[in-house]
Amino acid sequence: MHILSKSTYIKGLQCEKALYMQKKHPYLRDKLSIEQRAKFQRGTDVGVLAHDYFPGGIDMSPNAPSQFPKKVKETMDNLNNPEVNVMYEAVFQYNDTLIMLDMLVRDGDKWLAVEVKSSLRLSDTYYNDAALQYYVLHGCQVPLSDFRLMYLNADYVKNGPIDVQQLFKLESAMEYVVEREAFVAQNVERLKAVVALPHSPLVDIGTQCHNPYPCDFQGHCWKHIPKDSFLFTNAIDDETLFQNYFNGVNTNAKMLQKVALESLEAHQIEALETNSYYIDYKTLYALSPQPKPKSVAYLNLLLHRPAVPEIDGTKPYEEMILAFALQGEHEPEGNFVWDCFDDHSRWKEAITLLIEKLSHYELIVCFTPQNLSTALLRHEIIQNQTIGHKVLNLFDVLQQTSFYHPKIKRGLSLQNLSEALFEECKLFEHSRIILEATSNDLLGYQQAREDLIAENEMVAKTYQHLFK
Ligand code: SF4
Repeated sequence: MHILSKSTYIKGLQCEKALYMQKKHPYLRDKLSIEQRAKFQRGTDVGVLAHDYFPGGIDMSPNAPSQFPKKVKETMDNLNNPEVNVMYEAVFQYNDTLIMLDMLVRDGDKWLAVEVKSSLRLSDTYYNDAALQYYVLHGCQVPLSDFRLMYLNADYVKNGPIDVQQLFKLESAMEYVVEREAFVAQNVERLKAVVALPHSPLVDIGTQCHNPYPCDFQGHCWKHIPKDSFLFTNAIDDETLFQNYFNGVNTNAKMLQKVALESLEAHQIEALETNSYYIDYKTLYALSPQPKPKSVAYLNLLLHRPAVPEIDGTKPYEEMILAFALQGEHEPEGNFVWDCFDDHSRWKEAITLLIEKLSHYELIVCFTPQNLSTALLRHEIIQNQTIGHKVLNLFDVLQQTSFYHPKIKRGLSLQNLSEALFEECKLFEHSRIILEATSNDLLGYQQAREDLIAENEMVAKTYQHLFK
């Protein structure tokens, strides 16, 4: 059986302990967030579609991990079978390292290796993945004509059935992966030695816990850190916080000696110790709508950005309005929900409806990390000159007022915010609503509508709490 795979290798590069834990104590992992699950699903969907770029191949993916050795042998046999020209998820193993390659395509007397990414541009991580795959392919003596990364073409516009030749772009990573081979070889040996250790390597918590990915063993490794530790603040960057921590500044009292009395860091530590939040009230007051608006609408837009365009005339990741919930005095029973879950091609109907409905309100309150004014403007829902005073995005308000609570250390989501502000809070996540709304399931649709309203009620509650 193999010792390393692409995911464990990448994990090991981030932290040796994370690799060891993954191999020996995977049950100690934190639960996968819905956002991460949605990302994995998106990657799988795009990967399957990409097979049409080189059609007619054999799918080598195993049904269970126990089949890996069998699939490795079959893949190697297929390399010498003149009837096989394309393999999907071809399985290779070299020096105890196993990879599955998205596509391997016969190219004269050599093979073209292709790895598919569901994004619009290529990042360093993708090149690192490719370098490991090349190391294994080279070790298995697969004659390669090229190693290419395939990703989505931002300029592709859907017109009829998806044209995969236009939807994807290919870029050679050959030069990079050949250059990195010695580096990969060194790391493979180092990481194999880590897995062979009789106990977990001694690695203290540090910046690697969040960078480049949030590690899923934090629940385990951070157990000894008090819940109100300054390590949970975000006024100072992680690097500086940990520099202090490693230099013996390991209590809040010691950290407070390092910073000014009225600094943001000091306010955040106080918030931690008193289990409350910090907000810059002066700025909040300056941002409060003046004069008090007579009619306020709470708007929750469900924007959807499918990796593969669904509607003619749209591009990869182009935004569409899948639903919106509106709460306000002009709505029947206080709440109105519109959606096109069952037929996304109707999404532009939302625009006409929103133009009409929002015109009855003086203030539109929302909570979104995206710039809602820009989205509304892009879809010409409200006119440019009225946007400034009509839309109040609580997300922006909280950023501008330096709002802090330990719950929002790793991100200001409505879920985290409501847990910070209110003791009782219904559990929901915006990404879960998107998953429900795109589930092709009537029960999912119903749940998505209910959750949209629940989110909007939280927006209303937050607005009233801040500007009471
Ligand atoms: S939480 Fe931090 S120290 Fe622990 S395994 Fe993850 S990265 Fe390593």
